[in-house]
This record gives sequence, C-alpha cells and structure tokens, in this order.
Amino acid sequence: MVRRGFAGVKLPALPARPAVAHHGGMQQQASSLATLAQACIHCGLCLEACPTWQLTGREDMSPRGRIRAMVDAGRGEVPVATVLPAVDACLGCRACETACPSGVRYGAILEGARAEVLEPARPWSWRRMFWRPLIRQVLPYRRRFALLMLPVRLIARLPGARAFPLFGRLSAMLPPTRQLPEAPNSPAVPQDARRAVLLEGCALPVLYPGVVSASERLLAAAGYRVARPATGCCGALEAHDGATAAVTRRVSRVFGALDAGVDVVVTEAAGCGAHLKAHRPEDGPPVLDLAEALLQAGWQPRVKLTGPSGAPLRVAYQDPCHLLHGQRLHEPARTLLERAGAEVLPVADPGRCCGGAGTHAFLHPGAADRLGQAKWDDLAVTRPDVVVTANPSCQMQLDAARRGSGGHLEVLHLTELLVRAL
Ligand code: SF4
Ligand code: SF4
Repeated sequence: MVRRGFAGVKLPALPARPAVAHHGGMQQQASSLATLAQACIHCGLCLEACPTWQLTGREDMSPRGRIRAMVDAGRGEVPVATVLPAVDACLGCRACETACPSGVRYGAILEGARAEVLEPARPWSWRRMFWRPLIRQVLPYRRRFALLMLPVRLIARLPGARAFPLFGRLSAMLPPTRQLPEAPNSPAVPQDARRAVLLEGCALPVLYPGVVSASERLLAAAGYRVARPATGCCGALEAHDGATAAVTRRVSRVFGALDAGVDVVVTEAAGCGAHLKAHRPEDGPPVLDLAEALLQAGWQPRVKLTGPSGAPLRVAYQDPCHLLHGQRLHEPARTLLERAGAEVLPVADPGRCCGGAGTHAFLHPGAADRLGQAKWDDLAVTRPDVVVTANPSCQMQLDAARRGSGGHLEVLHLTELLVRAL
C-alpha cells in the first residue's frame, strides 16, 4: 500500500544485466554477494514495503535496485562511487525481507557489500572523514560517547544551532538529561534462578539510563538473577558501517565476558538484539529481547496500568524494525502490555520504519523528518495516553516528531512503562 504523502509510481523496467566480468581481488566478494543475491527473482514485491522507494519512487532507491547495484559493484561492473548514494540512503530496516516471497537475506547482502565492497572503496568525503571515526572510535565506547554528549548538548542549545542541519537534528532528537528515580530494593532471587546477563549497550546508558535500571528491575521481578558485566559495545553500529573485523572482535568480547552458567543474554535495544542473534557463537547462550525474556519467565504485573480516567491505559506501540523485521517479534511486547492491563491500539502500517535507524537520521535528516512525521501521525491519530517503543533511536526519533508537532504525549521505552506495573 502506498500511503499518503508518499509517491506512488510505476515500476521502471529492469535494465538488462551486462555480461559478467571479473576484476582481480573483487572476484571472491562478488561471488559471495552474487550467491546471496541469487535468491532475488526481481519480482518487485518488496518495493512498496521500502520507505525510501515510497519517498522517491526510484528503482535505485528500492531493495531490488540496491541488490543489483551492490552485486554489480562487487563484480567491478559499475564504480562504487555511483552506487554509494542509494545504498547509503538505505535505512537497513529490513522491511523488504519481511515482504520478500523468495527469502532474500537483504540484511546480510547489505552488511557484506558494505564490508567487502563499498566501504573499502569509499572516496574521501564528509561521511568518511567525520562519521566513520565517530561510529568506530567514539560511539561504541560509553565514556567517550558520554564525554562527547557534554559539548554536543551545549552547542545544540545555542541560538542559531538549528540553522546547521546536523545540530538542528541533534537539538530535535537528543533526549533531556534525566534524573534516575531511586530504585526500590530488588526482590530476593533464589540461588538456582536462571541467570541473565543484561547487555546495556553503549547508547542506552548514556541517553536513557532509566531504561537500563527499569529492565534490570523487571528481569529480577520475573525471577532472573541479573548481572551487568562490562561487555562493551556489541558492534551493531560498526556492522552497519562495514567494519567487519571490529564486529568480530566486539562480539567475541561480549560473549567472552560471560561467566560459565549464564543462561541468557538479554538486550533491551532492538538493534543490538538483531545484531547479536545474527552473530552469536554457536556455543554461546541464547540471546533474547527483553520482552521475550519476561514472557519466558512468566512475568506478571502487580498493578494494572490505567489512564487518567481510570480506564485501561491506551498505548500506541511502535514496532522497532529490528524487532519486527530483524527478529520477527510482533507479539511479545503487545502480550506484556495487555497482561499489564493496557489497551494496545491498532496502528496503521506498523512495519514502516520511523526513520530513526541508528545514525541514519543524522546522515539523512530530510528523509528522517518525513518518515518520522508520517509515523507520528499514525501513532497520534489513535489518541493514546502514551506512545511506546523498544529501541533508543526509535525513541529519539518519535520524541523529535512529537516535539515537532507540539504534542505532550509521553514517549517511553517498553520497560519504562512496564516497570510502573510492578
Ligand atoms: S532495508 Fe529498508 S530502506 Fe533498505 S532496501 Fe530494505 S526496505 Fe528499503
Ligand atoms: S528482494 Fe525479494 S521481493 Fe524484492 S525483488 Fe527480489 S525476490 Fe522480489
């Protein structure tokens, strides 16, 4: 379905594929990409699910067009520089995977192409000089990230900062610094309880520290023995930036930091969960999204969530793409909310990305604004008491859209709401 505000267009015919030519070292990468891409039968059923195709109506901004472009670049048939703009504009939301009848693993193709073909050949540019060091050397390290946030918050508040697209986007998206509510004592947990490691990640403790403490309390209330070892970043942002060696190192470090006997690794950020599920070593403990972990443990609320009138709290839940498409988890959050007495409202087009998408909103502020506003409109029209999501970049993006609309609704992470039912 092509939605209001988005372009509805006829699909251009696919150009004939040129003859295969091999170019030295690119041959191997080309063959692995081409193998993954072979599953694509060019049917085009993914196009209408793709937010960038909806915005532009262009074949090169569709999953099908991008797959072809990445394979052709891997074969050396087109220069990397000509492919980069359309691939960079991809949100990595993987809505195309959900829509694809042929089982194409678009996320794997994108990650492989970035690592093996696109990033090594990226010409000097603002993105390479500024974003690459930021994504690889600052954001994965919590202290560096927190230090960076100090001047960034100050600059973003300066009059005139909004005239610069990056600082305009930052001042719109950065959540206010929050005072952590004092946590009550956690309930006593038996020694033989299941042991969960809560992966804090790098962004959440800096941007939304209340989410981490709420998650820990919920897991303990569900009967887990919870630990938060210093695992460091899981490497999800670097995977989106094509830094394969760093990703392997970070995933090894996460699982190497776990004691023997850990039963589950739990994430409360959809992007980290999808990434770790894809890269988990075979002998490592299973990775669960927090909602899955609570459901598995049979979590029950102590009080019901109610709205201002005393009726069940009306919740508009926004599915993070890395839960819905990346982990195929649609029900767990809704089940928990209903168990806590909330009324979960039907939201139109739940599979369409909100435009947050990790660092994408900062790199493509125009598309992010349009997608964020469209998503906010779909959520707000349900007249909820609260908007809920489960990923930090979605929460920032929805909060920015709310502020842009002059609304006063709360935008909460799932755990920030569920903890009110303890
Ligand atoms: S990941 Fe999202 S934005 Fe990228 S091609 Fe697929 S549907 Fe489109
Ligand atoms: S990715 Fe899937 S849905 Fe899209 S064109 Fe290829 S086979 Fe069809």
